[in-house]
Amino acid sequence: MSIPVLKFDAVIVGAGGAGLRSAIQLSEAGLKTAVLSKVFPTRSHTVAAQGGVAASLGNSEEDHWTWHMYDTVKGSDWLGDQDAIEFMCKKANEVVVELEHYGMPFDRTDDGKIYQRPFGGHMSNFGEKPVRRSCAAADRTGHAMLHAMYQRNVKANTQFFVEWMALDLIRDEEGHVLGVTAMEMETGQVVIFHSRATIFATGGAGRIFYSSTNAFINTGDGLGMAARAGIPLEDMEFWQFHPTGVAGAGVLITEGVRGEGGILRNSSKERFMERYAPNAKDLASRDVVSRAMATEIKEGRGCGVNKDYVLLDITHLDPATIMKRLPGIHEIGLQFAGVDCLKEPLPVVPTCHYQMGGIPTHYSGRVVMPQGGDMNAVVPGFYAGGECACASVHGANRLGTNSLLDLLVFGKSAGDSAVEDLKAGRAHRALPKDAAEKSLARISAIDNRKGGANVHETRLAMQRTMQDHAGVFRFGDMLKQGVEKILEVEKAARELEIKDKSMAWNTARTEALEMENLIEVAKATMMSAEARKESRGAHVRDDAPDTAEFPNGRNDKEWLKHTLFSPVDNSISYKPVNMQPLTVEPVALKTRSY
Ligand SMILES: Cc1cc2nc3c(=O)[nH]c(=O)nc-3n(C[C@H](O)[C@H](O)[C@H](O)COP(=O)(O)OP(=O)(O)OC[C@H]3O[C@@H](n4cnc5c(N)ncnc54)[C@H](O)[C@@H]3O)c2cc1C
Repeated sequence: MSIPVLKFDAVIVGAGGAGLRSAIQLSEAGLKTAVLSKVFPTRSHTVAAQGGVAASLGNSEEDHWTWHMYDTVKGSDWLGDQDAIEFMCKKANEVVVELEHYGMPFDRTDDGKIYQRPFGGHMSNFGEKPVRRSCAAADRTGHAMLHAMYQRNVKANTQFFVEWMALDLIRDEEGHVLGVTAMEMETGQVVIFHSRATIFATGGAGRIFYSSTNAFINTGDGLGMAARAGIPLEDMEFWQFHPTGVAGAGVLITEGVRGEGGILRNSSKERFMERYAPNAKDLASRDVVSRAMATEIKEGRGCGVNKDYVLLDITHLDPATIMKRLPGIHEIGLQFAGVDCLKEPLPVVPTCHYQMGGIPTHYSGRVVMPQGGDMNAVVPGFYAGGECACASVHGANRLGTNSLLDLLVFGKSAGDSAVEDLKAGRAHRALPKDAAEKSLARISAIDNRKGGANVHETRLAMQRTMQDHAGVFRFGDMLKQGVEKILEVEKAARELEIKDKSMAWNTARTEALEMENLIEVAKATMMSAEARKESRGAHVRDDAPDTAEFPNGRNDKEWLKHTLFSPVDNSISYKPVNMQPLTVEPVALKTRSY
């Protein structure tokens, strides 16, 4: 079958913050640039970000990028690469001011500067006291950012392919990346995008968990495509959780609910936090609450048919107070849980929020992988930025508002590196004859299989396995079982069947293709988590010894290293954390936070 080939200098998969930022660099350099997205660009998940973007502008009080760097290294529980963190924090002011010049409507201080608000973990003078570092546009920072960058791209003549789904990475025998295959969702037509540079900015994969704050499109397609092309995934055991998301829907319920007097209860209506934190009770720190919730559920005291959530009860509060202080929560309860929180408790569960790991990259945005003894050999023609990439600046735990910064800094550097490599003469390389074979074979298998697995059931089995076995608080035995279970789910995911064979807008086929990506991420997560026998950042194991030598279960002697999961043979290897410049030596953290 002859497949149409579209030729571009650069093809970018993803039109969220990272993809749009990269595209600006390429299009403004005069390069013919295509951006593919499953949804209209401004509907990418970046639009949901509220809090702000970190930069040490010091508009309200003194701040310095080295303080930002210190906080980020510490927040990462020392797993972040210090050269990448230095690069990001140093660049922050430049990329935020650029955004301002693109027309981003930041809030303003009285004297007209960009408004900055305080955020968890942002401190002045190497941990002394809170500092205002998060640059915000009301509680719609991500929304404002996407619109400003989309318009800049329109001006720069970036060519958008909206509602196109990239399917597979095209790599030749020497390992060069030559573009992607993609499907136009409206027609089902498969096309080859042949490029000199390929940039992945496909966002996170929070949908591997049952409860997630992530958009439905966050199915880890970039990670799946990289994995199928033989590229290992880095630090996939590290996922950030928030204690109270609406069970099933995942929508966030603010900590303010417990601040107003909300109480967490188990299946026998017991206020279980009294046992875990007799003083702070329901207002204990996020990690303590999440851990207590996970323990209640594991020990069979969860609620509902599957005993997989707990209740957040505010029925004892004055209804007038709830409607005055928490009107949004009342609305969320009705919309997403079908519960009127004035009369009934809300079902809540620790909820997956952010993926710290991803496709391994250098801070220049170039994708790297182990080859011939070099742990960080560049994959020619391939770049990645944003949540799908692992630079690694977030290490084992991300600091609030550092993700939007990551999109800007690494989106830009991936674009710059691509421009540099193309200007240095990187040409279109000949496409292998079978460039589209893999994708066509996948589609044809899904279309023609009889007696295969149901996509919805397989996805649910994966999400439940991830939630139960690799959730917010992890247990050695549960992780071991989790590996067995996820390998079982993988078998089903490789044997999917769909009933609807139509070409136009076939969402069944799209979901099946997404499932093949999700399972790669889920497997990498479970196996990497089982293998890491310590607690670090967001990866908290109850069987990691908490001793004077290893406070909080963190074992720097053996585990101060990045995980690399190779999907080809399900093997795990490790590479050192870049501790240079050693601005911040590892010290024990007093508590863990999410
Ligand atoms: C509810 C919520 C609130 C948040 N709040 C904050 C905050 O306040 N501050 C902060 O710093 N961070 C926050 N984060 C995190 C941050 O918003 C994300 O990490 C970030 O926006 C991800 O951006 P991205 O560009 O990497 O990906 P996304 O914005 O997710 O975009 C991914 C793009 O890839 C495209 N895509 C994916 N797969 C394919 C495919 N196969 N083919 C074609 N296109 C594809 C999608 O269509 C989309 O355009 C929040 C996250 C969530 C979920």
